[in-house]
Amino acid sequence: MQRIHLSFGSLKTHFETVQVYEKIPENYKIPKKGGFAVGGLSVSHYLWSNLFGCLRSRNPFLNARSVARFRQRAKTPQAARNQAFKSMKTLHFDFEYIEAPWESLPSDDRELVAQARQACGTAYAPYSGFRVGAAARLASGQILTASNQESEVFPSGICAERALLYYLQAHHANDPLLAFAVASDPSPRICTPCGACRQVLLDCEKRQAKPFRILLYGDGRVACIASAAHLLPLSFTFDPVK
Ligand SMILES: [Zn+2]
Repeated sequence: MQRIHLSFGSLKTHFETVQVYEKIPENYKIPKKGGFAVGGLSVSHYLWSNLFGCLRSRNPFLNARSVARFRQRAKTPQAARNQAFKSMKTLHFDFEYIEAPWESLPSDDRELVAQARQACGTAYAPYSGFRVGAAARLASGQILTASNQESEVFPSGICAERALLYYLQAHHANDPLLAFAVASDPSPRICTPCGACRQVLLDCEKRQAKPFRILLYGDGRVACIASAAHLLPLSFTFDPVK
C-alpha cells in the first residue's frame, strides 16, 4: 500500500515568475510617466511587453500590461519588483490518496471494484475499443453499474461515470452515494475520470452534502480517493443571477 501526496497549483508558475523578475536589469531607465502614446500604448508598455514577452504566455495572471502598471508606479526597478511580489500569492492544493493492491481492500470496496470491472463487459465501444465500467454503492446497500456507450457521432457518446451518475439522480436521488468505483478493459493503468465526469461526480457530492469514496482500478491496483472534491480543485460554481 502506498500513500501518495500530490501537490499542484501555482507553485511552478510562481517560480517561473520569480526567474523572469530576476532578469529585470537594475540600471533599466524608467521612462517618463506614461512615456508617449503610440497607437494607444505608451512607450513603457511597449518596452515592458517585449521584456516580459515570455511571461505573457506562461502566466496569464501577470501579463505585460500589469507589469507595466507596477513599473510605472514604482520609482526604481527594485521597488517595481517589490510591488509586484506583494501583489502575488502562492496557493497550494494538496491531497493524499491511498494506492493499494485490489486484494488488500476491505471486502465491500473489493466487491464494488469487481462490479465495475464486470460492467466493462456491457460497454459499447466499437470506435475506441476502450471499455469502462462504473459501479456505485448506495446507502441502502444497493449496487448499481453502468458502462461507456459510444455513438457514430462521437460527441454523442457518454462515459460510464456520467451514465451511472445521471441514472442515480433520476432514480435514486434520495439514496446517498457511499462509494463509486471505475475500471477499464483493457486496464494498463489506473482508470481516471475525464474532466466532465469529475464535474458531475462533484455535482453529486455537493447535492448530497456528504463526500463519497472514489475507487479507481487499473492493473491490479486501486487508487482510493476520499472525496470527489479532490479530483477537481478550483471547480466551477454556478451562482444564478437574482
Ligand atoms: Zn468521462
